[in-house]
Amino acid sequence: MALTGLDIYKNLPKENCKECGLPTCLAFAMKVAAGQAGLDECPRLTDDARAGLDEASTPPQRLVKIGPEARRIEIGQETVMFRHDEKFHHPTAVALTASDGDEAALKAACEQFGQSQFTRVGEVLQPDMIALVNDSRSADTFSAAAGTVNDALGVAMVLISDDVKALAAAASGPLAGTAPVAVCTASPSADELAELAGSGAIVCVAGEMADVAEKVDALAGKDVKEIMISPGKAATLDSLTFLTQTRRAALLRKFRQLGCPALAFADGDDHVAASLDACAFVCKYAGIVVSNAWEPHLLLPILTTRQNIFTDPQKPVQVEPKLYDVGEVTAKSPLLVTTNFSLSYYSVESEVEASRVPCRILAVDTEGTSVLTAWAADKFNPETIASALKSCGVDDKLEHHKVVIPGHVAVLTAQLAEESGWEVLVGPKEASGIGPYLKNEWKGA
Ligand code: SF4
Repeated sequence: MALTGLDIYKNLPKENCKECGLPTCLAFAMKVAAGQAGLDECPRLTDDARAGLDEASTPPQRLVKIGPEARRIEIGQETVMFRHDEKFHHPTAVALTASDGDEAALKAACEQFGQSQFTRVGEVLQPDMIALVNDSRSADTFSAAAGTVNDALGVAMVLISDDVKALAAAASGPLAGTAPVAVCTASPSADELAELAGSGAIVCVAGEMADVAEKVDALAGKDVKEIMISPGKAATLDSLTFLTQTRRAALLRKFRQLGCPALAFADGDDHVAASLDACAFVCKYAGIVVSNAWEPHLLLPILTTRQNIFTDPQKPVQVEPKLYDVGEVTAKSPLLVTTNFSLSYYSVESEVEASRVPCRILAVDTEGTSVLTAWAADKFNPETIASALKSCGVDDKLEHHKVVIPGHVAVLTAQLAEESGWEVLVGPKEASGIGPYLKNEWKGA
């Protein structure tokens, strides 16, 4: 049975030295018990205490580190089944497939990979890895292609082949020191996988759940620590079943043989269906998704799903509450007010940019809540808006004295005018109405 925080605390040095990054030994013990810290992080722990605690305190799911130092990805060590119970810790890595069969196409893919970036609510979203497939069936060509990708991008890689030796050659050759994930599609034995791990690859054990558990157990006996598991190329439902049941077995039943992050394939011939599969696997519970969603309209939904799922549900995503200039603003530019909830702010900002009418946007501190939520919670009211107007110094920057509030809080108009002394104009209810409003209704100074 897993130890409680107090069980762990009894064995700690109790020196509260803070060398583990936490203020007290008790705080550290609680983190270890929750699977969010390892005993290695306490440099003062005695060997005897460590030996006693090690087994019981090992997180139910292993942490796996993939890729070269500069672009390292950590996956696994998740602690809950449901995001609302706490949060998910390590975002799913998205690996885009590329073939080793055509060098020119591979170079073009590398170029496209580098350009596959989107900005959403202030964050840059991009794929993380290349999943190189050994279509050529040649170990030499596979190694050369791995070197090409590594030289061009220097990102973490998944290697996929039915030849263990080809995987080992690429991992120990051009990818030496970059900890690629190696997936052998030919159901290799535990001995072959252990040998593959010796080449520097992180082995991915694929197949039926019982078979996977047996091989992971055998690998652990051979001191292979960083392991991934996978249902292999399976139907959507079979993959979801594998991902869900292995997660439950690891986290709820502490079944260590399945306590490894999982890799799922979402690279079928129907690219739209594959993109939807990838979104489902991000939610439940893939550490890596191998995807063929190269087209922006198929890739963006996957990255957006990941962005949403891996935020902390207890911390609203927010921007700094302050005055923002969008475009070449002047003393005549409109002043719009919104909250500092990221989605609200960036919705307004992107519509202002699209309108090509330079504006100032005042993001009022509502602890990261949206306009209506903040209004209902009395955080976006005449007093808070008037106070933000005063403290941001916008008065000195404008010839006019007009402020535009969101249409959803039109009810604040009179009281805000009285509280602030500003002329209050009611803007559109939805951000999509900002462009037409600025062009057709805004009357300047
Ligand atoms: Fe306690 Fe060890 Fe952390 Fe120091 S490093 S505060 S002794 S747990």
